[in-house]
Amino acid sequence: MAKTPKHCSFCGRDEKEVGLLLTGLEAHICDECAERVAEFISETKSAARKAPELKAEELPKPREIKEFLDQYVIGQDEAKKNLSVVVYNHYKRLLQKDAGDDVEIEKSNVVMVGPTGTGKTLLARTIAKKLHVPFTIVDATVFTEAGYVGEDIESILTRLLQVSDYDVAAAERGIVFIDEIDKIARKGDNPSITRDVSGEGVQQGLLKLLEGSVVNVPPQGGRKHPEQRMIAVDTRNILFICGGAFDGIEKKIGARLNTKSVGYSASKDIHKIDRSNLLQYVAPQDLKSFGLIPEIIGRLPILTHLEPLDRASLKRILTEPKNSIVKQYIKLFAMDGVKLDFTDEALDVFVDKAIEFKLGARGLRSMTETVMMDFMFDVPSEHPKSLTIDKETALSKIGKIEKRIV
Ligand code: ADP
Repeated sequence: MAKTPKHCSFCGRDEKEVGLLLTGLEAHICDECAERVAEFISETKSAARKAPELKAEELPKPREIKEFLDQYVIGQDEAKKNLSVVVYNHYKRLLQKDAGDDVEIEKSNVVMVGPTGTGKTLLARTIAKKLHVPFTIVDATVFTEAGYVGEDIESILTRLLQVSDYDVAAAERGIVFIDEIDKIARKGDNPSITRDVSGEGVQQGLLKLLEGSVVNVPPQGGRKHPEQRMIAVDTRNILFICGGAFDGIEKKIGARLNTKSVGYSASKDIHKIDRSNLLQYVAPQDLKSFGLIPEIIGRLPILTHLEPLDRASLKRILTEPKNSIVKQYIKLFAMDGVKLDFTDEALDVFVDKAIEFKLGARGLRSMTETVMMDFMFDVPSEHPKSLTIDKETALSKIGKIEKRIV
């Protein structure tokens, strides 16, 4: 009797078309379907787990949050204060019970404007350490409008689901930091008739998430495709913190301040404007002039700015934060039994060079790394008791890379 060909009872494919066909009592399953079933079961099990309860008495107070931030981030008091309050209120929203008074605390998403390398991501990362809710950082530059190359905006939530171990309830009260939000600004102030793949379309997509709606999220991220199963995530309670350098926004701020000063409302106040740091006057209309759509701006009611880092702040960054660069090197060398220290003048060299190469706070690490590289190579074999990095040492090591740059 001829053998009847076997089919996968799930996808219907013939045994010749699949890698492996497992046979049960009255049915068969192919390797691919078996994998999908296993994946489905594990996701469903995690989704069924309940997120732990938040307790009012355990909530860190705004001052406590700021004090914590102070240990890691130098300066940026205004941004720290704003973030501390926003995070605290986020918790309160999550704890709010329906008191029958129709008062519902709405969320206040945040946008931080500040030059690159001034601590936006560091603030977000540090605040995450203090939180009892899932937190993730995503980069807005990878998103493009649906139908184009790039990731769909919903994959922002994929990362949140991943850090929550696919616990949907936990993800639904998490915090997302969206970096480089300025990169999805519309190019130019006027809506364009041509397609703006990375601009307005993405903003419209993002708006849906910020507003609070139920979004279908691809569990593995990337692009959505028709057969993919989706996880529904409600974004109503997710807090979004956005950050961006908004290069050139000072011009828009300056222009707005100038216009205001013309005409009969012109006041003496205009003379008090600190033109060296216009960012401190940033207002929602400047974000609009920069190319964010008004609906997005409306959904980011807290607007805060970061200060540029001056010499003194850069020097403090080297030594003061809990895990400062200097503390990290001291620890590294101590593990080899070497007492490392830096003279004050050597630290000045790191700062001066970071400024000279226009690298800001990011440059501090690369400068220190350059100076320390040879020592990190030799010291573990040479076992000195101590090592002092002085101005001359710092200058001679940095001199090597200067020759490469010039
Ligand atoms: P951005 O504003 O571009 O997000 P980052 O937060 O990524 O900048 O800063 C880059 C690095 O510079 C940080 O990892 C940190 O080491 C250092 N840094 C920047 N600003 C500060 C600050 N205010 N306090 C302490 N370190 C800082």
